[in-house]
Amino acid sequence: MTPSFDAIIIGGGINGAASAFFLARAGLRCAIVERLPALARLTTSRSMEGMRAQFVEPENVAMMRESIAFYQDFAERTGLAGYDVGVHQQGYLFLTTAADGPQRLRQRVAAQRAMGLSDVEFLSGDEVRRRFPYAAAEEITAGAFRQGDGWLSAHEACFGFARASGATMLLNTAVIGLAIDAARGCVAGVETDRGPLAAPQVIIAAGPYSGRVASLAGVELPLRIVRRHRVTIGQHPLVPQDAPMVIDQDTGAHWRPEKPGAALAWAQAHEPPGEPLDDVPVNPRFVHEVLEGVYRLCPFWLEVAETLRRDQVFVQAGQYTITPDDKPIIGPHPEIAGLHFNTGYSGHGIMAAPGGGRLLADLVTGVASDDANPFSFRRLRSLDAASGHQRLL
Ligand SMILES: Cc1cc2nc3c(=O)[nH]c(=O)nc-3n(C[C@H](O)[C@H](O)[C@H](O)COP(=O)(O)OP(=O)(O)OC[C@H]3O[C@@H](n4cnc5c(N)ncnc54)[C@H](O)[C@@H]3O)c2cc1C
Repeated sequence: MTPSFDAIIIGGGINGAASAFFLARAGLRCAIVERLPALARLTTSRSMEGMRAQFVEPENVAMMRESIAFYQDFAERTGLAGYDVGVHQQGYLFLTTAADGPQRLRQRVAAQRAMGLSDVEFLSGDEVRRRFPYAAAEEITAGAFRQGDGWLSAHEACFGFARASGATMLLNTAVIGLAIDAARGCVAGVETDRGPLAAPQVIIAAGPYSGRVASLAGVELPLRIVRRHRVTIGQHPLVPQDAPMVIDQDTGAHWRPEKPGAALAWAQAHEPPGEPLDDVPVNPRFVHEVLEGVYRLCPFWLEVAETLRRDQVFVQAGQYTITPDDKPIIGPHPEIAGLHFNTGYSGHGIMAAPGGGRLLADLVTGVASDDANPFSFRRLRSLDAASGHQRLL
């Protein structure tokens, strides 16, 4: 099979690009194989681009802290002098109106602080209204805020990783088969619609299509593919541009400024899982729903909604790739040597890409052991899909 590489990465979204960067940094010659005509065309281009360390599981907190530190220093760490990934550390503000909200958020903040997130703040309802006057609802009982959270440009980050990796980019090239050496129990490369490619390491980073790609090797991934919308308001004078990402903890509706307008989203519980899609159809009612959703805690959104022109609003949809415990799948398949995953980010694949890509490379090169990997494929086999975990967003 020719040509050959040390590693082939299937998928040119942010997690494929981050995989390539960290593998190349470890000395591997990489190729990114991307079905579409450009990188960052699928889920990566449709996200809210948020990044936060406010998680509840220690492994997630650690991965997001590592990732945020990387993004803060992206140009230097990638060697791309002056490269700007548009990091805005305006914070993440979680709000609740629940009667037991103060108790629950206080406990969560204490647990996060114990994990080393010393800069997460618990806020009473009055403190929320004083510090963030647009979060004016009298019903708000408590909030949690971390200034170091925020957002960045996912598009720039994806292209930055890809450029810094020096990887060969095979665009308009779909992987249609995985070459498995059955006698040796290892991967030998991939079949594409433009011919075969050989490599001893193959990484599946195909976003919502990862399950389909894994099935080419007879591997089943327990992924749920769920539509999510993002609304962009191009420009509006009433949106406070110094606001953080503001999240209604009770419903999941959230918004943030995006100069000179805003971005809004809501991971609504009633969306059924579906098949992976390139063009995800948009629910025309979503704009109204999300405006009502954010208005609940931030009443100025009613005035925005009343004065909004149709040409100021843009709605798009993508898909979350969700695992049973909302944690990504990073690292090797236990039986097929050389087959790896970097997928299943469950709605957090932008913020986690640097930490996830670094871990993937450490697992591929043997620097890290899969036995100590909280994101291993292996864990999925023992996971009770109904096991409770606290999803923040
Ligand atoms: C509305 C919305 C809001 C979100 N908000 C956030 C947020 O605030 N913060 C955050 O961290 N995350 C967020 N996410 C999630 C985030 O966007 C994803 O986790 C991330 O983009 C996943 O990147 P990826 O590289 O894994 O997958 P993708 O970006 O989907 O890339 C996968 C690539 O694989 C390619 N591919 C698939 N099959 C093949 C094949 N057979 N051969 C070759 N190529 C193939 C696809 O064409 C695609 O380009 C959001 C997602 C949505 C939809």
